[in-house]
Amino acid sequence: MPPEMSSPPPGASQAEAPPRSPLPPSCDVLVVGAGPSGSACAQWLARAGVDVVLIDQHDFPRDKVCGDGLIPDSHAALQRLGVYAEVAAVAQRVSHVACIGPRGGRVDVPGSLSVLPRRQLDDILCRAAVNAGARRFTPVRFEAPLRDGGRVVGARVRQGGDAVHDIRSTWLVLATGAVPKALLAAGMCERQQPTGVALRGYVKNDAMAGRITAMEIVWHQRLRPGYGWIFPCRDGVFNIGVGLAHSHRKLRDGRRVMQDVNLREVFAAFCDAYAPARELMAGGTLQGELKGAPLRCSLEGARYSEPGLLVTGEAAGSTYAFTGEGIGKAMETGLLAAEALVAGRRQQSGDAAVQSAYDASLRALKPRFDLYERANRVNEHPWLADLLIWRARRNPAIVRRMSGVLDETRNPGSLVTLRGLTKLFLPVR
Ligand SMILES: Cc1cc2nc3c(=O)[nH]c(=O)nc-3n(C[C@H](O)[C@H](O)[C@H](O)COP(=O)(O)OP(=O)(O)OC[C@H]3O[C@@H](n4cnc5c(N)ncnc54)[C@H](O)[C@@H]3O)c2cc1C
Repeated sequence: MPPEMSSPPPGASQAEAPPRSPLPPSCDVLVVGAGPSGSACAQWLARAGVDVVLIDQHDFPRDKVCGDGLIPDSHAALQRLGVYAEVAAVAQRVSHVACIGPRGGRVDVPGSLSVLPRRQLDDILCRAAVNAGARRFTPVRFEAPLRDGGRVVGARVRQGGDAVHDIRSTWLVLATGAVPKALLAAGMCERQQPTGVALRGYVKNDAMAGRITAMEIVWHQRLRPGYGWIFPCRDGVFNIGVGLAHSHRKLRDGRRVMQDVNLREVFAAFCDAYAPARELMAGGTLQGELKGAPLRCSLEGARYSEPGLLVTGEAAGSTYAFTGEGIGKAMETGLLAAEALVAGRRQQSGDAAVQSAYDASLRALKPRFDLYERANRVNEHPWLADLLIWRARRNPAIVRRMSGVLDETRNPGSLVTLRGLTKLFLPVR
């Protein structure tokens, strides 16, 4: 057996699949996708007394390719959802993000952070939705929306590999993540190609457990336009990976094509260029395989709503460009979808009012996403990271600014705009 197949990924269990329950013919809200966004949405709706059905194409617990890093916005959403203590009890608590530049300079930015494999995190979130009253059915795959006139009135789904069923619902919520298949089937996809791509693996290396204690993010010429990371999980396990921003180039005719980059080669370059990554891999055991996945960022690439249908989470592009963080914003946007639906029910408002409330709530977040898009230039020009780190090491106020970006009290764009860079050379209070 090759070493990468020698043990299951962290959090894996051998539980037998429960017998399948018959699917209901109807519900108030059908939420498709039980990731952070869908589970948050379903829990909030169920708490408000809405009859909600939550489906996912996979049985839970299931793996999700991710860096597993929880930053302050995730912690805030977990608090709102009442699962923060449960997550904190099993997550690896982390006190700093370490930003490491191409020349090896490093600055440790403090923050409220933790790392928990998505297999465990998503299971907690999904169970919380069920405990609040959502009816969960898995594995059930969304195939297409049902329409009556111009309005969406439910979905055609497939249970396991079996026959299709129709579930009628007053509203359908698509929280199907970065793979655009469901968006395409619903006619909501505006851009099929992802914004970025990333690859990660789990490696167990007990000897490194006390040595890598921060969430390390590494910029380097050989990782352009992207970065590498090492995030410590529990029990000597690390999530290690590489991400590539703007993985798909726009051609003159508007089409997008994948840049000529092989993520496995970028991963090898990361291990070659960054000594701790090299050491981690050389002395550790890979658990499971290296796996890649797309990212959809900057609240772009899909329509947010149409009558009877809301799109939320990464399906709506809710992941931050530059950092690739999206768990917190997936939950936030899921909650925004639920809030728009609950308010619409209370006020007995029509489709247009629900849509415009939801669309407006996402548009209100957009400027912040745009700043992350601008900050993406660090991934394209890693020397900017060198500059920032060099200055931050000499000026604690800059570290405080960076910490403010992490907990969202400051904008990331301000650090890498021309004005922001100029300010780096001015005395900072
Ligand atoms: C390699 C990598 C590293 C990352 N690292 C981080 C990180 O460290 N921190 C962070 O905050 N973010 C990170 N992200 C981003 C994060 O993974 C996403 O932002 C987040 O998962 C989005 O949540 P979601 O609920 O919208 O979608 P998902 O988590 O993708 O959930 C979507 C769900 O929908 C289900 N589904 C899809 N299609 C169908 C269908 N047709 N029928 C039924 N079910 C369906 C899927 O099975 C899945 O369970 C990373 C992403 C990648 C790829």
